[in-house]
Amino acid sequence: MKPSAFDYVRVASVEEALAHLTELGDRARLIAGGQTLMATLNMRLSAPELLVDISRIPGLSGIRLNGSTVTIGALTTHREIERSPLVAQHLPLLAQAAPQIAHAAIRNSGTIGGSVAFADPAAEWPACCVALDATIVIQGPAGGRRVRARTFFRNLYETDLTPTDILVAIEFPVTPLARRSVFLELSRRRGDYAIVGLALLARPAEGLLHEVALAYVGAGPVPMLARQAMAALEGRAPAASVMQAARAALAHDLQPGSDLYTSAATRQHLAGVLLDRAVTQLLSGGAAPHAIA
Ligand SMILES: Cc1cc2nc3c(=O)[nH]c(=O)nc-3n(C[C@H](O)[C@H](O)[C@H](O)COP(=O)(O)OP(=O)(O)OC[C@H]3O[C@@H](n4cnc5c(N)ncnc54)[C@H](O)[C@@H]3O)c2cc1C
Repeated sequence: MKPSAFDYVRVASVEEALAHLTELGDRARLIAGGQTLMATLNMRLSAPELLVDISRIPGLSGIRLNGSTVTIGALTTHREIERSPLVAQHLPLLAQAAPQIAHAAIRNSGTIGGSVAFADPAAEWPACCVALDATIVIQGPAGGRRVRARTFFRNLYETDLTPTDILVAIEFPVTPLARRSVFLELSRRRGDYAIVGLALLARPAEGLLHEVALAYVGAGPVPMLARQAMAALEGRAPAASVMQAARAALAHDLQPGSDLYTSAATRQHLAGVLLDRAVTQLLSGGAAPHAIA
């Protein structure tokens, strides 16, 4: 199918983009990497009158360290994050997750801002943002605001963004040196969207897990922070009984859905399988922040 007719404008600044959005509201649509939007246009799931191309706005891409915060511009591609020494050093969870996003050709064009704004619960970046307690930086006609990722994702494909907002950056607190991370997912084929995925962070000390964060991909309408399972693991040694309690808690934390290929019950089961695997990997090392010579 071909998309409905639309006008196209490439803008050079956030202000210019906001002017178009303010004029047309949800009759205009931003395009960044186009890796999701083009498919929705071709399937006529979306039929905007105007595409506002933000992909060349200077200053909206790049990865910067400022004190204990890493700021990733909205237009930074998945590939740039995958290859960034700064990310490997300070946010190893993102470095682990990036290669699992689609295929290299898509990672070369797709952007973190597009992924987080689109808010597909099967996407990797939204869950990483929730696990790392990131802050979403938004610019709208009335000015800027910052929203915690843990409240940004409201429902299926629904976020705090309004049709006249632009996501400009994401701020990540640097992962402390003693905190390890693991990102795991199960998919039908490499490069496919995950059936279920898990971002785990924790600080292991003398056999106990501290500062546990668990965020699931594909296990509910939004990236799911598994609060009860986190509480079941916090400050404990992950013995069989503790892991069993944590897996049981996932029944309260997650709301997996069914599709043509995978039932909700299977997703719920796989979420527990991933939890076991992730904790085992974390205790045998996981990925740690590191110094770069
Ligand atoms: C075959 C295929 C497989 C894929 N597999 C995966 C996968 O496994 N995991 C995964 O996470 N993703 C996957 N993707 C999606 C890919 O990661 C996209 O790149 C990403 O979701 C959207 O980024 P984009 O820059 O391409 O956004 P676009 O397609 O340009 O835009 C997506 C949506 O976000 C809005 N938007 C874009 N930028 C902004 C902004 N800065 N502020 C506000 N709104 C904005 C647009 O208006 C649009 O509604 C896949 C895509 C394809 C085609």
